[in-house]
Amino acid sequence: MKTKQISRREALKTAALAGAVLAAAPRLFAQPAPAAPGGPAMPITSAAAPAPSGPFTLPPLPYAYDALEPHIDALTMHIHHDKHHKAYVDNLNRAVASFAPEPIPGIEVLLTHMDGLQANVRTAIRNNGGGHYNHSLFWQMMKPSGGGAPAGDLGKAIDASFGSFDDFKKKFSATALKVFGSGWTWLTLNGGKLMLETTPNQDSPLTDGHQVLLGLDVWEHAYYLKYQNVRAEYAGAWWNVVNWDFVADRYNQSKA
Ligand code: MN
Repeated sequence: MKTKQISRREALKTAALAGAVLAAAPRLFAQPAPAAPGGPAMPITSAAAPAPSGPFTLPPLPYAYDALEPHIDALTMHIHHDKHHKAYVDNLNRAVASFAPEPIPGIEVLLTHMDGLQANVRTAIRNNGGGHYNHSLFWQMMKPSGGGAPAGDLGKAIDASFGSFDDFKKKFSATALKVFGSGWTWLTLNGGKLMLETTPNQDSPLTDGHQVLLGLDVWEHAYYLKYQNVRAEYAGAWWNVVNWDFVADRYNQSKA
C-alpha cells in the first residue's frame, strides 16, 4: 500500500496555515461584539470593589453576615455569599479566560446576547453569569430592619397591578412555592408592566429583556440550614428583610 507523501512545500504551507489559526485568538462572540443595551446604566453593585482577578469580581455583602438574623441566619449568608456566589464568579472568569485579551463586555451585555456567544461557553456563561448577576442584586434587595411596604410610584404600581400590596405578597409567595427544584421568583418590569415570573437554575429574566426589580432565591442553599425543607417559612420570613428602597430605585430608573 502506497502512503501518500507530503512534499516539503505542502508541509510548509500546512504549518503556515496552522500558525495563522493559532495566532488568531478565539473570540467570545461568533458575531461582532454587540453594543451595550440602550437606556440608563443599571449598576448591579453598590460598592466599587477592587479587582484582584477578573474581569468579574465578587461584590462585598453590603452588611454583616448576621445582619439579617433571625430571618436569615449568619451561616447561610456566609456560605451563600462566600462560597456559592464566589463559585459563580470564579467559573464565569474561567469561562471567559480563553478570550483574553479581547475586552469582555459587562454582565448585562453577556446575558442579553446569549445567542451570539460561542456555543462552547454559552452554557457556562448562562449558569455562572446568571448566578453572578442574580446574586449581586439579591444581596442588595435585602437589608437589616427591612420589610414594610413600598411607597411612591412603585407602591401605586403594585396596587394597580395586583389589587393590593397584601395580594401581591400572597401571589409572589405562592409563585415561589411553585418553583420545582432550584430557581428564582421575580417581580420584573417588562414593557412598563409589572410581572411575576419564575426562572429555573440561575437563568435571569434579563436574558428575555425584563428588568429585575425584586427576586427571591429559592435554591435550597438559600434556606436549608435554618428552614430545612420548609420553603414557605423562608419565603414568609424573607418579607421582613426586603429592601424596598432599593427595589423602588430600580423601578424608577427602569421607568425613566
Ligand atoms: Mn443562591
